Amino acid sequence: MDIHKIILPTPYPVGDVNAFLLKGDCLTLFDAGPKTEETFEALKSGIHEAGYKMEDVEQVILTHHHPDHAGWVDAFPQAQILGHEYVDHWLKQTPEFIHYRNEFYRKQLRLQGVPERYIEKIVQVRDELEMLGTTPLTKYIQDGEEISGHPGLKAYYTPGHAQSHLIFVDEKSNEAIGGDLLLEHIASNPLVEPPIDLSFDRPKSLVQYHNSLEILKDLNISKLYTGHGGDLVNINQLISIRIEKDKHRAMEVLELLSTPKNVFELTMTLYAQVFKEQLGLTLSKTIGYLDYLENVGAVKIELIEGVLYYYRLT
Ligand SMILES: [Zn+2]
Ligand SMILES: [Zn+2]
Repeated sequence: MDIHKIILPTPYPVGDVNAFLLKGDCLTLFDAGPKTEETFEALKSGIHEAGYKMEDVEQVILTHHHPDHAGWVDAFPQAQILGHEYVDHWLKQTPEFIHYRNEFYRKQLRLQGVPERYIEKIVQVRDELEMLGTTPLTKYIQDGEEISGHPGLKAYYTPGHAQSHLIFVDEKSNEAIGGDLLLEHIASNPLVEPPIDLSFDRPKSLVQYHNSLEILKDLNISKLYTGHGGDLVNINQLISIRIEKDKHRAMEVLELLSTPKNVFELTMTLYAQVFKEQLGLTLSKTIGYLDYLENVGAVKIELIEGVLYYYRLT
């Protein structure tokens, strides 16, 4: 692929984020960094270094809706903006969607036994929205679709880390733009996010994520351009390491279920040092392991006075 990597600063703990400029029949930017002034300057100079101007970008494609990737869609008013349908809710930020999102989290947190005093702190969305762009998508990308302007470049829907997550595979070179599906130095967190359709249940992010890693494995990609850190070549080996680690951690969670517990109780035990500062993230991780255990038939769940309790079955 004729690809140019642009490293962009972010104010998030994850550090820099990568954007990619791809020259085909048209000029496409994959991901656009968070909406900060510093990132805008870095994006502009990165595009210049590749020999183009901001106005030359004809398409901006988002791997997923997280603010470290989807901020500067606002910098390309002349371009087509493409991504999974779910991204559009986050860019449009209608009061109805924000209300739906907040109510989803309130309901989930109560079910997981989180005390009321923590709930609003987790639900507050302001930080997350401030660095997101507000230019809606001009077109949705479907699973399996070929990207216009790039013959042979195909999108694969890979949810888990985000409900909107897509990767883009070039069938000629067998290289792919991978977003946050698989990263060099850190495990991609299977974040709990509201389902795309109100009538659906909460997505089981870690189970989805493992399925998405299996999709990536089957593609036998030669080189993966990642959302954070370096490009990857030993992809299948890293996938096995990530999945094994999750399974190992899930077994540790199972050990803690000698007596039935809820998600909040388990999170306090598993992440005693950090759970108060990173409650949303640590709860997501605990829920992920429990979803995995439920999926393999190792636990059952009972609703007691509005809170879900997990029982060990094996
Ligand atoms: Zn992400
Ligand atoms: Zn990211």
